[in-house]
Amino acid sequence: MRFLQADYLFPIYLPPIKNGVLQINLDGMVIAIHEENTLSGVDIEKFSGILCPGFINAHCHLELSHLFNCISPNLGLINFIKKISGRSKTSQSIIANKIIDAENQMIKNGIVGVGDICNTNDTLFIKKDKNIAYYNFIETFQVHEKKFENTINNSVKIRNQFRFHNLKATIVPHSPYSVPPALMKIIYELIDDSSDVISIHNQETKDENIMFHSKDGEIIKWLLSLGASTTIWENISQSKDVLLNISSQKHLLVHNTFMSKDDLMDVYYCTCPKANIYIEGTTPDYSFFNLEKLCVGTDSLASNSSLSIIEELFCIQENSDFDLNSLLKIGSKNGADCLGFTSLGTFENGKVPGINLLQNIDFNMKITTETTVKRII
Ligand SMILES: [Zn+2]
Repeated sequence: MRFLQADYLFPIYLPPIKNGVLQINLDGMVIAIHEENTLSGVDIEKFSGILCPGFINAHCHLELSHLFNCISPNLGLINFIKKISGRSKTSQSIIANKIIDAENQMIKNGIVGVGDICNTNDTLFIKKDKNIAYYNFIETFQVHEKKFENTINNSVKIRNQFRFHNLKATIVPHSPYSVPPALMKIIYELIDDSSDVISIHNQETKDENIMFHSKDGEIIKWLLSLGASTTIWENISQSKDVLLNISSQKHLLVHNTFMSKDDLMDVYYCTCPKANIYIEGTTPDYSFFNLEKLCVGTDSLASNSSLSIIEELFCIQENSDFDLNSLLKIGSKNGADCLGFTSLGTFENGKVPGINLLQNIDFNMKITTETTVKRII
């Protein structure tokens, strides 16, 4: 047994405990939480700082890690996507090495679970090792009706490759503007007992709202230049109208940078503030989200300087009035709940959530640019 004590313990499902002690077994399983003065005759390991559960990165694209520093900031989403799809081919060995580096970076930064978008099976080789828990969202992006069958067959093939290695994998749509209704229907028909969550990029750019409200703007121009199906926008008046089975299926809507209170539904939302600043130069309005259902992600290294949840939480803190316990809940429990990582997210008895030590939190209990994360387990 180990007994870990810090200035504050953040179990997340309970309020923070000053000088609290976390009792774990040698496998890192939580056995009990103690108030400081209730223990005697045991060796207590003392830490200066805060102990909290391992972080969940609810939205990443690990396979794009080789694009670090390749795409300049502030291009806007559509130019960003054009750059990503128009990039020259990178060798598989470079892609693989950058994936290894990126996973190591996440581990070092206290991340224990990831919701990862996959357009390929490039990350499968590392996920098989289960250094981190992954939920793999096999992303479908197809604007041409004639190509639906090929696209879906490819997605099914990749999903099955992940599942063959006992990895969670579900086929999901990329966004409301890149999947016509007929393809959306096929994607929902593929939901099965092993599919817990549908993830989709949502309202990441103002033009997504303009497209559905006014049938105008940059996205429509771009889609028309691609010869895309006009059914994408014709009979749809807002982004959330593209989602099906909204009451029975768990959804994770990602970005929501240009979402308003009227758009809010009872689903999980994921914010990626540093990527939003990188691409669109702004962050979402955090005033109306349900704090039990807001998760956080890094997005990929193509649009971020790091894969660090504490840096994302700092960015949310600077743009909201959330207290530290709420921020840490966004960074751990909510993502674990959404992605079905039942053993992660809180210091509840029986869980093996990973343990992070946060240092250089200021005296007002605020994350600072100096705050560091160290993995205890
Ligand atoms: Zn993304």
